Amino acid sequence: MIEPIQFFLPGPSYVPEDVRQAMTKPVVGHRSPGFKELYSRIAERLPRVLRTRGDVLIATGSSTLIMESAVVSCVRREVLNLTNGAFSERWHAISKAVGKSADQISVPWGQAVAPELVRSALRRKRYDAVTVVHNETSTGVMNPIADIARAIREESDALILVDTVSSLGGAPVETDAWGLDVVLAGTQKAIAGPPGLTLFTLSERAAERAAAVSHRGFYTDLLRYRDKHREGGPITTPAIPLVYALDVQLDRILDEGMEARWERHERLYRKTAAWAASQGCEYASAENARSRTVSCLNAPAGVDPQTVVKGLAERGYTIGGGYGDWKPTTFRIGHMGEVRESDLDALLAEIDQILERAAAPAVH
Ligand code: PLP
Repeated sequence: MIEPIQFFLPGPSYVPEDVRQAMTKPVVGHRSPGFKELYSRIAERLPRVLRTRGDVLIATGSSTLIMESAVVSCVRREVLNLTNGAFSERWHAISKAVGKSADQISVPWGQAVAPELVRSALRRKRYDAVTVVHNETSTGVMNPIADIARAIREESDALILVDTVSSLGGAPVETDAWGLDVVLAGTQKAIAGPPGLTLFTLSERAAERAAAVSHRGFYTDLLRYRDKHREGGPITTPAIPLVYALDVQLDRILDEGMEARWERHERLYRKTAAWAASQGCEYASAENARSRTVSCLNAPAGVDPQTVVKGLAERGYTIGGGYGDWKPTTFRIGHMGEVRESDLDALLAEIDQILERAAAPAVH
């Protein structure tokens, strides 16, 4: 049983109480037999979440660490960044910041990246890797990763680096079936763990290519993570309480089952979409590209989105405001992680009341 959820930020998301409690257990040595046993129990279960037969590695650090590490480790020189929102733009900024030669296919916010665009870019130039964000949390857009990955594989030998930060655990992510080389996600979104750990994969071909890249750094060297993992542990002292938390939350995720979890998120999205239509809140994301974990909505005409965000805060609820340039016009509901339909119903009823008040003529 979990308590009613009133926290709908598009990450970090609500963390169940037993998961929070797990973090209070005494710390042990990270090379102790006890920790090794815990680590291997987690390592054995994680591939079911990321849908891979390969290793799933764990970094202490937020998702941005592994976005950077993936570029540092896997890109010799040329990288193509597909951008359609703030986090994919961050990956482009990272690629330049670490000294790679980075090109960008930039798609307007609110639209998905079309596989055909990627195809034609790859026909023009050879790249070591392509980066793409599955679920743009800033705009509520979900990119068609399976189709994009197919286009990349058909046109080139570029590695496929995918940020699934706000989709893993809430929408299908098929690492092996889609042929993805690095899939990364922090634990603080649809996984519903505390922030601070990042889970990621490294395909065999990515590992081979990385071996030929010089200066992969130390904390950013994905091969080092893989080698230490194969010895049965993390590369350095991990955030041990977060690992305790992950252990408990993984059980919850696998008890529910990945398919059931995706279906629950699909129902949450559909409920939000039906409600939004009834309230005249238009999605800021194109209809064929809507995220299943976060709805980015335009406030109804004449209503400041901050009225909704602040009104909810006064009632004990949290949602996200708009991101970057979209701050003045949108708000974001994170329907991810452990949120149930009953939690969402309660939130939407609160927003109904706030919008009703906002629409009522002022009494003088
Ligand atoms: N990628 C996406 C899609 C995100 O939503 C976020 C954070 O919201 C990040 C990357 C960055 O994650 P972190 O803050 O864990 O580094």
